Amino acid sequence: MADMTDLGLLEARHRLAARELSAKELTEAHLAAMIEARPLNAFITETPELALAAAEASDARLARGEGGLLEGLPIAIKDLFCTKGVQTTAGSRILEGFVPPYESTVTQRLWAEGAVPLGKTNLDEFAMGSSNVTSHFGPVRSPWTRASDNADLVPGGSSGGSAAAVAARIALAATGTDTGGSIRQPAAFCGITGIKPTYGRCSRFGVVAFASSLDQPGAFGRSVEDSALLLQAMAGYDPNDSTSADLAVPDWTASLKGKVKGLRIGVPKEYRVDAMPAEIEKLWQQGADWLRAEGAEIVEIALPHTKYALPTYYIIAPAEASSNLARYDGMRYGLRVEGETLADMYKKTRAAGFGTEVKRRVMIGTYVLSAGYYDAYYLKAQKVRRRIVEDFEQAFGKVDAILTPTAPSAAFRAGEKMDDPVAMYLNDVFTVPSSLAGLPAISVPAGLSAEGLPLGLQVIGKAWDEQTVLDVGLAIERAAAFAVMPYGLG
Ligand code: GLN
Repeated sequence: MADMTDLGLLEARHRLAARELSAKELTEAHLAAMIEARPLNAFITETPELALAAAEASDARLARGEGGLLEGLPIAIKDLFCTKGVQTTAGSRILEGFVPPYESTVTQRLWAEGAVPLGKTNLDEFAMGSSNVTSHFGPVRSPWTRASDNADLVPGGSSGGSAAAVAARIALAATGTDTGGSIRQPAAFCGITGIKPTYGRCSRFGVVAFASSLDQPGAFGRSVEDSALLLQAMAGYDPNDSTSADLAVPDWTASLKGKVKGLRIGVPKEYRVDAMPAEIEKLWQQGADWLRAEGAEIVEIALPHTKYALPTYYIIAPAEASSNLARYDGMRYGLRVEGETLADMYKKTRAAGFGTEVKRRVMIGTYVLSAGYYDAYYLKAQKVRRRIVEDFEQAFGKVDAILTPTAPSAAFRAGEKMDDPVAMYLNDVFTVPSSLAGLPAISVPAGLSAEGLPLGLQVIGKAWDEQTVLDVGLAIERAAAFAVMPYGLG
């Protein structure tokens, strides 16, 4: 059983195709792992019956020599993607019990490719957070612990349940969404790979909205190749999403070679932030050395507006969130708390349905959009966002990809930083700039902290150039040869 859950997505695919393994066996092994790993709280909803039915259908197709890209492969879905007939909560009390009457485009594509649905993974409420502790359904525990103690650590957020499920060998791969780092940061904390494609590459149709100009679905895997394969199945034009790009999806997996010879890799000096731990700085240097050894040229670049990215993001994202979340009023779906009047019902429903972080963001968002403050905050932030986009455009005139750390630290303790939202927001310092610019970026596990926790390196690419991002990521993966398992699984 253990062997089956330790296979990569691609490896499992080969074994299924060769009929060395059945989808049913593979799915049963993962369902058993899911039960065993329940203390992690990685799933909000488990769907074992759907998984077994899908696996049987896959076996029938495989027996006929048919099957899609992900035929018979058990994967997990972040509970932000609407799934027809299966509860979708966004980690919020306000959507508890909500069963969508339709399927998100991304999940629709995955099922059409034969993927087996294990369940819906836990997340920070409405994907707002960096530690997966704001979920109404309780925090997710990382499968990792420090070498020195057994204290619970956060898996990162907001896609912490997906990252934990993949790291803990419950799912072969999982979907996530990334608004300001929610795929890359949990991937780094959990020692796995996570890719956020270019904004517009994957459809947002049926993904519960947080900040629409930033939200983008993406993929977690235990290798760069696995992430590429899942992303390939997720991506593609969708007329139901006006921001989805009408571009063909390249066969990233087939083209993936990990060759970086002749590539110019930028290292932005502004990412040397104050108080960055020496081990992160060292890993970054190590990453540059690995790529240089493979024939890439390392070039120092300037992204001068980097220091404004975090404040800009924390104006734009809450502004869009406050508008998107206005729909949760107790009228059409989700929680309703009756009141004396209509307005009273709205108030009571939203007061009971949203958690503290969501309320904080709705308040910040409505404030920066309000008459009198709109120009000073929201409009200003939009202008700074443009400058940040231009920084990247200039840099990509000189380089093919950019290398940075993924996060400024390894995973922290559950409960830490909870009384200091700004310290929590600082986690996103390296992931937010590329989100504001809509660029593709990957996090690859590249080493261990002194405490024995995974650390990730981030590769940012040009718009629509996921291929280079994946190739540079693969080169790092090969050089790093990261093979440490979470505590208890080794
Ligand atoms: N941590 C960031 C936030 O709290 C990013 C979240 C995300 O990417 N969904 O907004």
